[in-house]
Amino acid sequence: MTTTTTTHGSSGLPVLEHYVGGAASAGTSTRTGPVYDPALGEQTKSVRLASAGDVDAAVAVAKAAFAGPRGWGSSSTAKRQQVMFAFRELVNARKDELAAILTSEHGKVLSDAAGEVARGLEVVEFACGMPHLTKGSYSENVSTDVDVYSLKQALGVVGVISPFNFPAMVPMWFFPIAIATGNTVVLKPSEKDPSVANWMAELLTEAGLPDGVFNVVHGDKEAVDALLVHPDVAAISFVGSTPIARYVYETGTSHGKRVQALGGAKNHMLVLPDADLDLVADAAVNAGFGSAGERCMAVSVVLAIDSIADEVVARVRDRMGKLVTGDGRGSADMGPLITAAHRDKVAGYLDVATTDGADLVVDGREVVPDGAADGFWLGPTLLDKVPTTSTVYTDEIFGPVLSVVRVASYDEGLALINGSPYGNGTAIFTNDGGAARRFQREVEVGMVGINVPIPVPVAYHSFGGWKASLFGDAKAYGTHGVDFFTREKAVTSRWPDPSHGGINLGFPQNE
Ligand code: NAD
Repeated sequence: MTTTTTTHGSSGLPVLEHYVGGAASAGTSTRTGPVYDPALGEQTKSVRLASAGDVDAAVAVAKAAFAGPRGWGSSSTAKRQQVMFAFRELVNARKDELAAILTSEHGKVLSDAAGEVARGLEVVEFACGMPHLTKGSYSENVSTDVDVYSLKQALGVVGVISPFNFPAMVPMWFFPIAIATGNTVVLKPSEKDPSVANWMAELLTEAGLPDGVFNVVHGDKEAVDALLVHPDVAAISFVGSTPIARYVYETGTSHGKRVQALGGAKNHMLVLPDADLDLVADAAVNAGFGSAGERCMAVSVVLAIDSIADEVVARVRDRMGKLVTGDGRGSADMGPLITAAHRDKVAGYLDVATTDGADLVVDGREVVPDGAADGFWLGPTLLDKVPTTSTVYTDEIFGPVLSVVRVASYDEGLALINGSPYGNGTAIFTNDGGAARRFQREVEVGMVGINVPIPVPVAYHSFGGWKASLFGDAKAYGTHGVDFFTREKAVTSRWPDPSHGGINLGFPQNE
């Protein structure tokens, strides 16, 4: 797998090519970007970075694959469903292979990579039931001999632009639904861990998807910009940081596209005094340091009521002492960060924290990793008494840094969460059902956990935040996803009848 998609560049390293029309394609651009194995700290390959012309060529292929009576846009529901079922079986049978590729380029530990694949597969399974979700509705005899029915039809060519932190799952939030509803797709994955995209594309081909229905174009801003302004791209699904999400939303919509742009996050976990503090400590560690904190649903702030804050900090610190940071292919709990530059950026916040008056309880820079010396390591870090004026509190750090902010009351905690510009995920830990119920009603966040730290909705609900965590009206997957990738058409029909209504220039009324 992927042997057909690589050629050898001048460095001697393989170059990962685009996948267009069912085959590897080098395109015309000579630009490439480095791809690392973060646990080794070594470049393992390069990835082609598309020119606008390369994007144009891929969109043309996707457009041709959509069009005409034999195009994917006119394919039968049964055919689409068969491909989705076959793809699901193939990924399921080879998920370990996919997880290994993912770990080698992202760095997350293998069990976490397998979890990512499993959550992506949920959406494929959801898409297998697309006939039920797109069957429309029919009203008979709304007026004498007149029927009205609504249809959901595909948009055409859609673009998916994904981030580095979930190279399999995030594209799977979108393309199964886009394809199962009859669209053709151009995926622009993150250039930091791009191989998973080609692997999935090849498997879709193996599953029977016609050439050109799913295409992968690798690249950076140049490729993204080309998709955003392309007249033949009907819609864009984007996931990434908030500034880029805002830019993508504004640029795409101003070019007439339907856009959903999911952005960054700063997720708070509010701990009330009656909570089970062992459950709290486990949850804070799992949600703070899983995937080295490089999750948009990671908990990065624990809001602890003063009376229990010392105990929360102590229990979290104890658990952190048992965590092994190292190569995800071994027995480590937590892997490296994605690049050296990102590791250094995250580590830089630890100096900011102490300057701003926080207590550095556990310093991840002192970690002794179970892995290669040059890996992009930063161990789990715990900060206490973080001032809410510090950039450590206000910025999305996107690394293994957990901040404890002490609050006097539920109301103070809630006000902090609702004051954040982000609104992706949040959680409350309590044994008081009334408090939890009040929280779910009052908190201004799109995904809420009650004694659950990472409340990622299942595939038949929809995923998305509020405020600066989502630009656009539609969340990812679930019925939002189906609506996003289809447009509804309402048909009012009357078949000839021996009688006729005669001339009437008034506005149609139902009789
Ligand atoms: P990113 O914004 O740097 O990149 C995302 C995508 O945008 C990539 O494909 C990248 O190539 C492209 N891109 C980067 N710079 C660009 C530019 N200037 N113009 C146009 N396109 C550009 O994000 P990342 O670092 O890959 O991923 C981490 C971010 O994604 C975090 O902020 C995280 O919270 C967010 N994220 C959000 C969700 C969510 O569901 N809300 C899920 C996963 C990740």
